[in-house]
Amino acid sequence: MNVYPTKLELAGEGRLLIAWSDGQAREYTFRQLRDNCPCATCREKRNEPPAPSGLLPVLSLAEARPLKILEMQPVGNYAYSIRFSDGHDTGIYTFDLLRELGNQLQ
Ligand SMILES: [Zn+2]
Repeated sequence: MNVYPTKLELAGEGRLLIAWSDGQAREYTFRQLRDNCPCATCREKRNEPPAPSGLLPVLSLAEARPLKILEMQPVGNYAYSIRFSDGHDTGIYTFDLLRELGNQLQ
């Protein structure tokens, strides 16, 4: 099946709405998209074992601020690259990945 986004829309506080060519609508939080970033660096990070207990995770200033999406750019006709307010912009979100994420709206 070949579905593609027909509409991207900011849906209020930290949320993105994508309407799809088959009529489906999905809602995403910026955090969810960021946490599922498909770039090699983030994939590696997610596979690391959690920090030993007793250590506090230290967030950088950018990470501690509310996350925003600054820009979404189409990549070919199969994906979007997303630039986040924490400075990260190397993730290429394929339509397939975007379809797996998010909450389907009725
Ligand atoms: Zn990444």
